[in-house]
Amino acid sequence: EIPAVGNPIRTRAILEKYRLRAKKALGQNFLTDLNVLQNIVEAAGITPDDNVIEIGPGIGALTEQLAIAGGEVLALEIDTQLMDVLDEVLDPYNNVEVINADVLKANLPDLVQTKFTDPTAPIKVVANLPYYITTPILMQLLNSTTKWDSITVMMQKEVAQRITSDPGVKAYGSLSLTVQYEMDAKIAFEVSRKVFVPSPNVDSAIVVLEPRKEALPIQPIDEKAMFKLIKGCFAHRRKSLWNNLQTVYGKTPEIREQMQASLDEIKVDSQIRPEQLSLEQFVALSNALAGHNL
Ligand code: SAM
Repeated sequence: EIPAVGNPIRTRAILEKYRLRAKKALGQNFLTDLNVLQNIVEAAGITPDDNVIEIGPGIGALTEQLAIAGGEVLALEIDTQLMDVLDEVLDPYNNVEVINADVLKANLPDLVQTKFTDPTAPIKVVANLPYYITTPILMQLLNSTTKWDSITVMMQKEVAQRITSDPGVKAYGSLSLTVQYEMDAKIAFEVSRKVFVPSPNVDSAIVVLEPRKEALPIQPIDEKAMFKLIKGCFAHRRKSLWNNLQTVYGKTPEIREQMQASLDEIKVDSQIRPEQLSLEQFVALSNALAGHNL
């Protein structure tokens, strides 16, 4: 019986056989804890009915567990050097395809349509992300035309906290709002830096994103304008909402009047900090500002 790829002894043997050194620039930290790997698959709720996309399979530790639990698995790895390794370690599984590609340049909706036997089956993303591009990858997934049934991704703990936080705390900001606008977000569990080879300088957490179960009570009239408002409001998070609004829209007497009327309309005090506003209130504020021609 060959031990799992994620077994520390097997991982070391694979790295040695292929003379591999983890590439820092590509965010390569390989998971070597079978329990953690299986807990990720469980948090993602992977079943044999699912199509699974994995980003950055590395030497295949998570890929193997996804192949065991899932229907079909498509994995995208940028590092050409890992193709032979993945070919060998995933050989026992006939439901996995690995492609050598940069996920940020890949057309994911197209891959979903062409690579899976049944593209209408549930589609779930699972990854131990390369941390240097966590946010760009998340934005690509959220902006994609594919409706992901879930996105289960490991990332730096601090980023996980920003994504999942509620109003009023330090971690809350435009990343929280951008993600939570589309998805329900929660931290499934935290992961110690010790279970990786090599061990990174930060602790990690698994974030699970699922399409919002409850729609927002109000929709923005103009999504782009709302995100411009949100970004602008968190540019100087220690300043008041009013100061940030002046930076975004201007401070002529006419503009100030329009801003004040908008705040009055939604009953928000101009002197609060931006982090005290909920997503719903940002939507309302954006709509009110539009109503006053801002
Ligand atoms: N899944 C493996 C594991 O859990 O042990 C490896 C995870 S490692 C943190 C991140 C992986 O993403 C590496 O294999 C790295 O080469 C790959 N990667 C980095 N940038 C990428 C990109 N732009 N597109 C696809 N894969 C990328």
